[in-house]
Amino acid sequence: MTQSKILLAAQEIRPHLASLLDPETAQTVDRQLQTLLTQAESGQAVEIQITELLRNHTTTREWMRRYLKGEDPVGITRSFNLPGNPAPVTNPLIYRCPKCDYITDIPFVGITPDPCPDHPTVALISG
Ligand SMILES: [Zn+2]
Repeated sequence: MTQSKILLAAQEIRPHLASLLDPETAQTVDRQLQTLLTQAESGQAVEIQITELLRNHTTTREWMRRYLKGEDPVGITRSFNLPGNPAPVTNPLIYRCPKCDYITDIPFVGITPDPCPDHPTVALISG
């Protein structure tokens, strides 16, 4: 089985995450990519998850877009910004309960997070 371009991109982008994202986010994304690549090795289809993961950040999305188009993605750094589209400063996939230390995450933007079990009526805060 040949590897898809998305899996190759996921491997290629990992050494660049430190320059594309803030250190904490880079570490999180790298861990998630590692998990997904391990799943890919065992034959699972993870291309969609990889695409969603890298689409969450302006820099990784642009890197991926150029890579898949065959352009050179080198030169994109976390100071890279698309006009009118600032890079998010928080992780939109993480939700916290403002009343306690409950934290949950969602697989991609647009999914409603599970409410806090202790404060089910409190709106969770993203980031
Ligand atoms: Zn709570």
